[in-house]
Amino acid sequence: MALTIPGDTLDPQSINGFLAPDEGEALQARAMEAATLAPGPFVEIGSWCGRSSVYLGRAARASKRLLFAVDHHRGSEEHQPGEEYHDPDLFDAALGRVDTLPSLRRTLAMADLEADVAAIVGSSAAVGAAFGGPASFVFIDGGHAMDTALADYRAWAGHVARGGMLAIHDVFPNPEDGGRPPYEIWKMACESGLFEPITRVNTLEFLRRV
Ligand code: MG
Repeated sequence: MALTIPGDTLDPQSINGFLAPDEGEALQARAMEAATLAPGPFVEIGSWCGRSSVYLGRAARASKRLLFAVDHHRGSEEHQPGEEYHDPDLFDAALGRVDTLPSLRRTLAMADLEADVAAIVGSSAAVGAAFGGPASFVFIDGGHAMDTALADYRAWAGHVARGGMLAIHDVFPNPEDGGRPPYEIWKMACESGLFEPITRVNTLEFLRRV
């Protein structure tokens, strides 16, 4: 028997992921605001199983924009076997690799957002280098290693349209609360002269491209 598609009634928090409810709601609202101020699609880096893709996909549909959901779907360092956030349900044992793409596809189908979200499977740096831009809203929520966070920032920050927004997840100003790389790229953005900080919701920072 076929599943019932919940569509708009799907609770994004029922999707496997790490984005808090206040962060998701802020993401959706700010992306819709950015669409009124700047041209271009929305981009998210690090879709995982699609929790943030639901919030941003709903914003995209309301704003008549497309969301590019970029992820290699092999997980970050902390998702690998033996690491803190490893999930055996998201592991292709035969291949020996994490695979979150089937979960993302199911999420987009269940949320009825397949027309509003285009999943791009690949390296954020490679996709960013080939991306034509500009984007009205870019959300960076990729790996937390310094080289990964830096690569995401370098590949995508320049694609944000003037007037548009950059959002960065897992920004912990106090090192005791969490890893520093997302904080470091947020600081780089603030000091770049290209962005000014707008607001912070939980661990999610928003900046406007000036
Ligand atoms: Mg995150």
